[in-house]
Amino acid sequence: MRPFSFESVTTANDAIAAGASGDGGMEFLAGGTTLIDLMKLDVMRPTRVVDINALARTELGRIDVQRQGLRLGALVRMAEAAEHADINTVYPAVAQSLRLAASQQIRNMASLAGNVLQRTRCPYFRDVSYEQCNKREPGSGCAALDGINRSHAVLGTSDQCIASYPGDFAQALIALGAIVDIAGPRGMRDIPFAALHRKPGDAPDIETTLQSGEMITAFFIPAALWTRRSVFLKIRDRESYEFALASAVVALDLEEDKVRDVRIALGGVATIPWRATAAEAVLKGKVLSARSKRAAADAAFADAHAHEHNAFKIELGKRTLIRALDQAAAMEI
Ligand code: SF4
Repeated sequence: MRPFSFESVTTANDAIAAGASGDGGMEFLAGGTTLIDLMKLDVMRPTRVVDINALARTELGRIDVQRQGLRLGALVRMAEAAEHADINTVYPAVAQSLRLAASQQIRNMASLAGNVLQRTRCPYFRDVSYEQCNKREPGSGCAALDGINRSHAVLGTSDQCIASYPGDFAQALIALGAIVDIAGPRGMRDIPFAALHRKPGDAPDIETTLQSGEMITAFFIPAALWTRRSVFLKIRDRESYEFALASAVVALDLEEDKVRDVRIALGGVATIPWRATAAEAVLKGKVLSARSKRAAADAAFADAHAHEHNAFKIELGKRTLIRALDQAAAMEI
């Protein structure tokens, strides 16, 4: 690990001031479950680390279930949100997405904002002995294109990077239309969660639309008719402590067996948290049948692009979505 300066802040204003005075080498430290890992691997090399954990005693550490929706402070720990009774009842896909991630020890440590900002598990990114990685070293190439790419993405890729987005919670946030509250040197702002992550394009190293020194302070999920009938389904090589090969969030508003509205997001198969709007459009106003579900799944992956080892993800992703639709439709609410 390389030398870095370390400081702790106790107020949001101090954190923002630290961001404002920082150079490109500053990183905020919350749970540290991504940052410390990647510092040890020499992948992330901050010159200054600002510990913001004391802010968990403020509204950044609170869960607030309101009539208008669910507000989750950025420093709420994954385990706390996963085990929250109201979240399990009213926003079950949110609780499931957190409960099925990582291990209990990591969920006890990791913050919600850190979780959505976690970096890819692409092995070529995480191992500095590989010289080619456009995400780690812009312009160096992409070792995964002709390497082992079984875990990589089939949606949202570019010829510069095909790394899959590894998180689960983000799929629940994008499906349920969450808003992200952000504080930074230029003040406060909020954006749709769908506008937080960037596809790799020709700049895979720039992963989000956060500006220098900005920090996420909260997520807000608006109350809606589909949140109670929501499901997160995760398919992986083993049932514990493993990242998704394919996952789906489905939130359904049903009128008997007809779909009044639906929200769909996909994980494990895309470079960013992925809202499947084409699949939603196929299902709206239709009866949920084998044919309509298959048509929705086909629409979700119409633009998929596979590489040597990950073509299986296209059919796996479709089946995952269909099974999630079945599970959501069968829920007793
Ligand atoms: Fe790097 Fe992306 Fe290629 Fe992986 S897929 S080696 S993260 S550029």
